[in-house]
Amino acid sequence: MPPALQILRSVFGYDAFRGQQQAIVEHLVGGGDALVLMPTGGGKSICYQVPAIVRKGVGIVISPLIALMQDQVDALKQAGVKAEFLNSSLSGREAFAVEGRLERGELDLLYVAPERLMTPRFLELLERAEIALFAIDEAHCVSQWGHDFRPEYVQLSILHERFPQIPRIALTATADAPTRREIVERLGLTGAQQFVASFDRPNIRYRVTYKNNGREQLLAFLEAEHRGDSGIVYCLSRKKVEETAQWLANKGWKALPYHAGLNAETRRQHQQLFLREEGVVMVATIAFGMGIDKPDVRFVAHLDLPKSMEGYYQETGRAGRDGMPADAWLAYGLGDVITLRQMVEGGEASEERKLLEKRKLDALLGYCESVACRRGLLLAYFGENYQGACGNCDNCLDPPQTWDGTEAARMALSCAYRTGQRFGVAHLIDVLLGKQTPKVAQFGHEKTSTFGIGQAHTVAQWQGIFRQLVAAGYLEVDMEGFGGLRLTAASRPLLRGESTIAFRKEPERTRKKEKRKTRSSASPGHDALWQALREKRMELAKEQGVPPYVIFHDSTLSEMHAQRPQTLAELAHISGVGERKLERYGPAFLKVLTEMNGY
Ligand code: ADP
Ligand code: ZN
Repeated sequence: MPPALQILRSVFGYDAFRGQQQAIVEHLVGGGDALVLMPTGGGKSICYQVPAIVRKGVGIVISPLIALMQDQVDALKQAGVKAEFLNSSLSGREAFAVEGRLERGELDLLYVAPERLMTPRFLELLERAEIALFAIDEAHCVSQWGHDFRPEYVQLSILHERFPQIPRIALTATADAPTRREIVERLGLTGAQQFVASFDRPNIRYRVTYKNNGREQLLAFLEAEHRGDSGIVYCLSRKKVEETAQWLANKGWKALPYHAGLNAETRRQHQQLFLREEGVVMVATIAFGMGIDKPDVRFVAHLDLPKSMEGYYQETGRAGRDGMPADAWLAYGLGDVITLRQMVEGGEASEERKLLEKRKLDALLGYCESVACRRGLLLAYFGENYQGACGNCDNCLDPPQTWDGTEAARMALSCAYRTGQRFGVAHLIDVLLGKQTPKVAQFGHEKTSTFGIGQAHTVAQWQGIFRQLVAAGYLEVDMEGFGGLRLTAASRPLLRGESTIAFRKEPERTRKKEKRKTRSSASPGHDALWQALREKRMELAKEQGVPPYVIFHDSTLSEMHAQRPQTLAELAHISGVGERKLERYGPAFLKVLTEMNGY
């Protein structure tokens, strides 16, 4: 057996390499440089951890995510790997001890913060040590175009100059071409082989729901599918984060708020609870997420629209890193479309910038309203060609009906036109339905030709019609901020009867509820054995002060649950059970499995 495969099996407990892992590992073991672009959850760590162990010397891993180093190193130690980290959280004495081990050649892997690596003292230390490879994690941090730019990362090119013989591997989940070019250029990786994986996340189920009462819809989704699961709920504003967290907590969920307005200590505490406890729902602004390496996030829910497709992909991508089923759930409504359109059009930015933002928003709205496979649309946005229907998004699972909305669209557009193109949706719907409201009387709108012509549709249907018209650019929102709707150039042909339009049918609420229940939950049932396995894991994790997934991932527990091994030899076959963990935890889990046998 080649040594790399042997390490993968004995240390990590995995049967085989996944995707391009093997090619990458072989390339590095052979001394080559590599640039690896793989989505979150794609299995990047194995790509440098295995070669670092196979090659002589220590693998130096550069990562900007100091908060994560401890957990990563803990997880490696659990598997019997000689790993340590060096960053500002260590005392002088602790750091000194780690440096000693580095010099004596006692380490397989050492995680360092870039600013520490760059000190002359540390570079000298490295020259005295035997180095297996350099791994530059989160390599997109060298890019000034991204959001995570780290000035220290630019200096990493020094590694190439000072240690030309040592193989380097740069890894990122940020795939776009400009970022990739910048990584190659700034890290001196022109000679490196590039390994580009598909950015599909097959285990994530994408779903878009039309909002009528977002919070209640979220609660129904959580109660039907995610009891006891960890997940993230994204909201746009701090206020909404606070309110939603409180509301969910009142409904009996372990929900915590997270946003940049909370003090550092509270944020740290909440993040820690999210990582260490099970079933915590983090309600957050997008301030939360960068560097959240928790593998068992079972859902990411958006109560407000993200800003772009990039944002949506990144935020939903935090779900299901462990490859187990996970949900990306988004609720969006007319109000979101209007707010975001106003934000883009009314902002201070340059015209050029506004146009760019408008395009990004259009792409996202198009995605939300589309009747096509969501996965196909998402990947197409990132330039990847995905063939066919994925079978794991709402549009594939429950193909939406469309109807010819040309007539209704004309009524809606004429109504906006006849009332002077300055009223919001609520009033326009009142006029279409022929409601005698004070506002109708005040402006004499009962005299317009569109008064009462729309009674064939309900309020909810009209809201859907207006939402789709605004999303598709047939109506635009005025900039004064009152949400008045105006016609656009695109609406002329429709009004003149020269073009037609198809709308998505708004789902009926009762039907939707039934459907939700029949869809399978992400976790493998909530029976007694599953609970007992999770409790055992939690007990062991608490004893050692590590997050439960550092003991075993959900995927490993779920395989135990399905296969019910009854001996240590059988347990050893479960994916994720390496030699060291078998020795340490095998007996404890076997006890649970044998005691619960027959349940
Ligand atoms: P990334 O860093 O790319 O987000 P990770 O390295 O955290 O991904 O791996 C994602 C998940 O896949 C982890 O749960 C990891 O244990 C699992 N994994 C990685 N490689 C394999 C493999 N060859 N076989 C089985 N599971 C794997
Ligand atoms: Zn699909």
